[in-house]
Amino acid sequence: MINYKTLGLVNTREMFAKAVKGGYAIPAFNFNNMEQLQAIIKASVDTKSPVILQVSKGARDYANQTLLRYMAEGAVAYAKELGCEKPEIVLHLDHGDSFETCKSCIDMGFSSVMIDGSHLPYEENVALTKKVVEYAHQFDVTVEGELGVLAGVEDEVSAEESHYTKPEEVVDFVTKTGCDSLAISIGTSHGAYKFTPEQCTVDPETGRLLPPPLAFDVLAAIEEQLPGFPIVLHGSSSVPQEDVDTINQYGGKLVAAVGIPEEQLRQAAKSAVCKINIDSDSRLAMTAAVRKALAEKPSEFDPRKYLGPARDSMQKLYMHKIVNVLGSNDKL
Ligand SMILES: [Zn+2]
Repeated sequence: MINYKTLGLVNTREMFAKAVKGGYAIPAFNFNNMEQLQAIIKASVDTKSPVILQVSKGARDYANQTLLRYMAEGAVAYAKELGCEKPEIVLHLDHGDSFETCKSCIDMGFSSVMIDGSHLPYEENVALTKKVVEYAHQFDVTVEGELGVLAGVEDEVSAEESHYTKPEEVVDFVTKTGCDSLAISIGTSHGAYKFTPEQCTVDPETGRLLPPPLAFDVLAAIEEQLPGFPIVLHGSSSVPQEDVDTINQYGGKLVAAVGIPEEQLRQAAKSAVCKINIDSDSRLAMTAAVRKALAEKPSEFDPRKYLGPARDSMQKLYMHKIVNVLGSNDKL
């Protein structure tokens, strides 16, 4: 048993309380490799932002859970070396699929876990989430639950159709489970293809697809039921069209990739939404930079020459999100 506190990590409790009060949201960035982690840490140190490092099932399979945990420990030391005296870094399990997965992460030093029982019947979701909370709280690890179903594909998580969170269920769920934050479904979606062209309208000026707006009425109804309770949005990449264009310009083939407009996320961040998950946007930034570097210098074969620009590009993206979308800068 390794407690996250000995690794210099923090849980989400105080961080979320401040974010809800202050009208901003904490970035939750997924990571799978060193360049991505360096970019996240540099961006959060440079902007003085707390940050959540998220590990998905896909990341655990790809990079190994043990290695990722040591990387997070290294991230704390790296942030200090970069001049941040008191980094606030959370190591969070994204979409925990069972009690055993959550327990295994808690036992090896994660400071926060998500248990995703959103696909289960309501009472089973309550029972599973409660079981994880009871275990996690013994070690002061915070737990995110989920109500409602997001559409889209994210690693192993996928659903054909979305179901908005029912505001009438949230108080009962939070009270019975004791969870510390709640992921809700109000129209965000996993992946880079969040909406079909049929769901979108076309911007007459640019010819780009415009997605349907988020259900702010559902968010407001949830906030009314749970005043001040930390709310989480998954699937909140914006799918920057410049990156999609760069990828396609250099041989990629992304057709009709659409994300959530940043103005809407900015609006959500000012409410009780205090954690916003962003994964696809950094994948796009990385892929665009790698494709460009390889295309422009075809004789190059040193991975540092294309992963370096990819890292710079991701750092720029993370800083933009922190400062212009989430508002979590200057909080350390
Ligand atoms: Zn998710």
